[in-house]
Amino acid sequence: MTFTTTRNFGNWIDGSWRQASGREIERRNPSNGTLVSRFRDSTEADVDMAVLSAKTAFRTKWAGATGAERSAVLARAADIIWRRADELAFFEMAESGKPAKQARVEIERSSMLWTYAATQARSITGDSFGQLGDCYFAATVRAPLGVAAIITPWNFPFLIISQKLPFALAAGCAAVVKPSELTSATTLLLGEILQEAGLPDGVLNVVAGSGATCGDLLLHHPDIDMISFTGSTKVGKHAMRVGADGMKKVSLELGGKNAHIVMADADLDDALDAALHGAFLNAGQSCNQGSRLLLQSSIAAEFIRKFVDCAARVTVGDTQADGMLLGPIINKDQYDKIVDYIAVGKAEGATLALGGTHREENGGYFIDPTVFTGVRPHMRIAREEIFGPVVSILEFETLEDAIALANESVYGLSAGIWTGNVSHAMKAVQSLNAGTVWVNTYLDGPAELPFGGVGESGIGREVGKLGVEEFTDIKTVQIRSGGYSRRWVGQAIEAPNA
Ligand code: NAD
Repeated sequence: MTFTTTRNFGNWIDGSWRQASGREIERRNPSNGTLVSRFRDSTEADVDMAVLSAKTAFRTKWAGATGAERSAVLARAADIIWRRADELAFFEMAESGKPAKQARVEIERSSMLWTYAATQARSITGDSFGQLGDCYFAATVRAPLGVAAIITPWNFPFLIISQKLPFALAAGCAAVVKPSELTSATTLLLGEILQEAGLPDGVLNVVAGSGATCGDLLLHHPDIDMISFTGSTKVGKHAMRVGADGMKKVSLELGGKNAHIVMADADLDDALDAALHGAFLNAGQSCNQGSRLLLQSSIAAEFIRKFVDCAARVTVGDTQADGMLLGPIINKDQYDKIVDYIAVGKAEGATLALGGTHREENGGYFIDPTVFTGVRPHMRIAREEIFGPVVSILEFETLEDAIALANESVYGLSAGIWTGNVSHAMKAVQSLNAGTVWVNTYLDGPAELPFGGVGESGIGREVGKLGVEEFTDIKTVQIRSGGYSRRWVGQAIEAPNA
């Protein structure tokens, strides 16, 4: 099936399409400028309507649904995502510019997250306490937090909403989702998908629009109970400040400057492939990008020669053509920012070993794989998130040096190490300051495993069992079943139980 016509989207509120009332926003394919989708920015009235719909549906329809009922909806949604995978992959590819094959894989992986969350919906448990005394029992119960405001970025739109929304729904929360204004289509289509899957109207609402207007209105809304945000550290900090004012739970998945370490004792062919994939997947527009490649000095020269040779063969261009591995940069702003960083790297004295070349062509924004060697830890290209196909190579002598270099960052999202020595691997796992450490692999992420960062990479975890628990609160329940024998008035005051 082909999807070549431009689609006009409304907001998805209370189970139907509603035209938002703000200015029109167009999304063009960043590969070639073709118009892909149109929608309107959401105003205060639109956001109010969405939050009210979620609040009502939470109370009347979803908080009281059984785990089995929630699970059935999520499992059906996974099947429908699979059935509509061609359409979802088309919009994912056309709005973000990523290669069609990659977009398809991301939709399939997303479907698996919905399947996994379906299993979790039936397994939300607390603890029980049976040793507190005769006829005295207590338990903790995990209760859904309420209405979750979910805000997502443009780099992996459907994958990222699928790391959050099915887990929120499994927990029993209702949601108002605001996708990036650059890639809203697939998240909006979830409205139709979940309705067909049997989700009661109002439990999911999707409001389209810009961050500064619609996103900010949502963050500030008094009737949301939680903020689940993925995006830049700058906006994440803003979300946290707003959340603090409203005393909301805040969960943040933010930027990274991830260290990918290669020791001399590693399988260097495997490490080479992973280093290339880690650096250039999605044109480097990935929070997990292995943007700092740390090489042990004894193998550095040969590894760099092979890395540059392979990176030079990465195909770059309009991803509607078959065989493109690397697509465009998402928009002109981001393109200009990366081009500036390439100039900064040169000015700082790093050696441009490959690339640095870029072009605006037929409405698309392309930057070739770019490799800097001789990078020193103080340089901006070693410290700041560039979010493009630019990798900074640093060298080290010992494992201790590598760990110190890796940890010299305000971020702590993920890190990788390639080594054939189990002691090196264990030392790295213990010492690397990151939410995920990959050993002899990179970018793996099964649905069972929690994901998140430390430091300026965020707070909280998503995916896995913890991904559901993130959307719950703990309620402590105490029950005395043998009668209540104390009399506070008229008797000596007892110390409370400690
Ligand atoms: P961004 O912070 O600019 O935007 C993210 C979302 O926030 C978008 O929907 C945007 O419209 C919205 N937004 C912007 N300003 C807002 C405001 N004032 N109030 C409310 N919402 C607002 O990020 P981006 O450019 O879309 O994405 C790239 C960033 O996301 C990178 O830093 C990347 O590392 C990070 N990211 C992190 C993860 C992770 O899991 N840790 C995953 C993907 C991307």
